Formats: sequence, C-alpha cells, structure tokens
Amino acid sequence: MNVLIWFRRDLRAADHPALSLAAGMGRVLPLYIVEPEFWRQAYQAGRHWAFAAESLAALREDLGALGAPLILRVGPAEEVLDRLCRQHHIARILSHAGPETQWSAARDHRLRGWAREAGVDWRELPLPAPSDPAAEHPALSPVPGLEPGPIPTAKALKLAEDRCPHRQAGGRAQGLLLMDSFLARRGEGYRSASTSPLGAERASSRLSAHLAFGTLSRREIAAAATARQAERPGGAWASALSAFRSHLALRDTLMQQTPPPAAEQAAQVDAARLAALERGETGLPFLDACLRYVAATGWLPSRLRGMVASVATGQLGLDWRAAGPVLARRFTDYDPSLFWPLLRQAVQTGAPCNPVRFGQMQDPSGAFTRAWVPELAPVPDPFLHTPWAWSGFHRLAGRRYPEALVSPGPRSGPRSGPRAAPALPRQRRGPTAQLCLDL
Ligand SMILES: Cc1cc2nc3c(=O)[nH]c(=O)nc-3n(C[C@H](O)[C@H](O)[C@H](O)COP(=O)(O)OP(=O)(O)OC[C@H]3O[C@@H](n4cnc5c(N)ncnc54)[C@H](O)[C@@H]3O)c2cc1C
Repeated sequence: MNVLIWFRRDLRAADHPALSLAAGMGRVLPLYIVEPEFWRQAYQAGRHWAFAAESLAALREDLGALGAPLILRVGPAEEVLDRLCRQHHIARILSHAGPETQWSAARDHRLRGWAREAGVDWRELPLPAPSDPAAEHPALSPVPGLEPGPIPTAKALKLAEDRCPHRQAGGRAQGLLLMDSFLARRGEGYRSASTSPLGAERASSRLSAHLAFGTLSRREIAAAATARQAERPGGAWASALSAFRSHLALRDTLMQQTPPPAAEQAAQVDAARLAALERGETGLPFLDACLRYVAATGWLPSRLRGMVASVATGQLGLDWRAAGPVLARRFTDYDPSLFWPLLRQAVQTGAPCNPVRFGQMQDPSGAFTRAWVPELAPVPDPFLHTPWAWSGFHRLAGRRYPEALVSPGPRSGPRSGPRAAPALPRQRRGPTAQLCLDL
C-alpha cells in the first residue's frame, strides 16, 4: 500500500509514531504542505516561517537518510492531497492530531469530507501516540516518481519582512543541543532564574519553539529530564527538574483543552497604541525593554509575557483580539493551544500588572532596561523606571524617547499618572552589556 504521511507540527523523523506505523505498511510519501492561506493569518510572521523552513530542511535530510526525502508542495491542502492521492495511488494518509485554530479546524473538517468521498483512509493519531522504540529510525521505501519540491522563501509566501536577529534556529539538531545544554548545565538555576529577564534566557530550557514545531517530542524531553533527575536526585537540580516537569505538565493540560478561537477582528482599535506596542515605544521603560527584547529574540520568559499581555489590554486599553496577533507574531514558539488560553488568563486575572513596579522588582539594577532602551542612557538610576519624574526628562521626552502613552497604574486612560509615580530609591547599577543569546 502507498501511504502518505502528512507532517504538520511534528517536524522530526525520530519518535514519530505515524512514520513508524507507515514504514510497516508499504511505500511512503512524506509530505509537508505549505498553505499560503495559513501563512497569511494575522498571527503568523516571518520568524515562524524561518524556523519552520530550517526545520523542514533538516527533516528532509533526516528522512532522506532513512530512504524517503520530504516532499514539499505549496497550495491549499485539499488540492495538494487530492492531486497526490490520485497520481500516486495513495490509499491512506497518516498524520498526528495537532493544535487547532478555527481556521485549521475548518480545513480539517472539509478534508474529512474529501477523504470519505475520495475513498482515502485518513487516520489522525492522537498525541502522545503509542510508539515503538524499536522502530525509532525505520527504513523507508519511497513512493517513486516525485520531485522533492523547493522550500519557498518568506518573500514567496508574501510574508512581511520580520527582523529577528537573535531568533533561535530551527531544526532537530538545534533542539537536541538546547536540550543537552539545559539538562547538563543551564537548568541548574531554573527555579530561581527562569523568571528574571537577565537570568531566564540561560536558565530556561528554550525548548518551546522546538515543541511548537515538533522538532523534538514532548515525550523525549520528559524522558531525558527523568533520566537526569535519576542521576541528580537532590539539591538544586532536583527542584529545578521537578519545576521544569511541572511546566511540561501544564502544557499538556492546555493542549488537551479546546483552545479559545484565535482572534479574528477587534471591534475598534487605537492604531497609535497598537503601533507603539509593536515598536516597543510606549514610553513605559520596562514594558518597552520587554517588547524590544521579544522583537529581537522571538522569546520572553512566561512571567514577562503575562505582564506584557496584561498591560497591553489593561493600561493600554487594547482589545485582546488586536493585541493578540501583535504578540503572537513576536513569539517564535507561537502555538495556538498555549497562546490564546494563556493570553486570556493574563488578561482576565485580577488587576493589570503595573509595569513600573514590575520593572523595579524584576530589573532592580536596570541592566535589562538599559540594554534594550538605550535612549534612556542619560536617565539616572533612581528614575530609570519612572523617567518622567526626573527633572531632565524634558530633554528626551517626545524626541529621543516617547512620553508615556498611559498611566502605569491599574487602568487604561489618558496619560496623567506617570508624573505622579514615586521616584525610586537609589540603586546600584548593574552590568549593561547586551544579553548573550549564545546558549
Ligand atoms: C500570554 C502568554 C502567551 C504564551 N504563548 C506561548 C506560546 O505561544 N507558545 C509557547 O510555547 N508558550 C507560550 N507561553 C508559555 C511560556 O511563556 C513559554 O512556554 C515559555 O516561556 C517558553 O520558554 P522555555 O521553553 O524556556 O520554557 P521552560 O520554562 O523551559 O518550560 C518548558 C516547557 O514547558 C512549557 N511551558 C512553560 N511555561 C508554561 C506555561 N506557563 N504554560 C504552559 N506551558 C508552559 C513550554 O512548552 C516550555 O517549552 C505563553 C505564556 C503567556 C503568559
């Protein structure tokens, strides 16, 4: 039998139950479909495609080594699958069930109808699906006569330019390196440092984008963490790894729920505030530092994501349906199953965060804020998070650095509060070197 394996958010050849299953059924056609309509969604960005494209190139190599390189086609899934199934006598399609958006759920619903009519048996394996470790790297017999097809550029997909100079690289090898360095060295400080803007980059696993695109499986990460825990049963490692595993469990819980719909259209949007959010020019220093950091790296620790979402929809008064896509485009690890419920949670939980107080607590030395908001260099340390309270601010305000768009206090409104915010006690100044993303 000829079997088509449809790769979606599972861009790996190892620990891939559908691949192992297909290898035992007959000749295989491993396929990735680039759906232009999907990449036009408001929450997709160039950084997502860049990570996916690197992962696809690596997957093509890995599958080639097993005997059947990845086939890539561009177009609506219905058309691509219909054509390939007819031309290559495909009787069965295997795929893993993945996170859904309204768009992908509607697409899959149409495809189930098409498969029934076309007499194609489409099996969606639930994740985690049972896998046979003996079939970890199955030899594949390819369906003959297929051109692999080029991996399109972001430009060809009409994605806007998306500069992300410190973006994490895609591909399974990169994911394995991260997992190894986290479990061998970086993870020891996970519990204490993973919420700090300065420490998190190194102490967090940084595996989220690999989980989102499936270059590593959740199961292999959990298994490696368990093995590590057995080697280091006490001390900082034990508590770090149990916190890490509880985050993976949190992810599982969200993945099992039906995500709220991805944002479609906000009723009314304050375009200036939305643009300020996008550029990291809200005039609230710590918020701007976080926004610029995530623009340049594609990543932010969870706590700071929550703060950004809370302030965007709280003090800035932006509709979550408008702010959501702006933030989703920033996160290389954007995953609808996690993003939308966590955004909702951040928006709905209690009073919005006060970004001034948050900055004072999370970045007391000011090193993070100074690194990402260099315009504030002349501002003395005690005023870094409240520059409007500094007597020399009029020399920067509105020229080198914007005036605060809103009060940093609990609710949205015209800017009136910032000047009233208390001055900070004098604090020791920390290192101002740019953060190093070389993990
Ligand atoms: C508003 C908001 C939006 C978010 N959007 C996404 C998203 O689109 N994609 C995404 O992967 N994560 C998202 N998160 C969760 C979290 O911020 C990231 O998973 C985490 O920062 C990724 O870094 P890491 O891999 O180093 O995580 P680690 O701290 O090393 O955690 C390991 C893994 O556990 C999971 N995880 C960690 N924190 C959480 C959490 N709070 N809830 C559920 N799972 C978690 C992730 O898969 C992560 O890779 C969001 C959080 C918030 C508050």
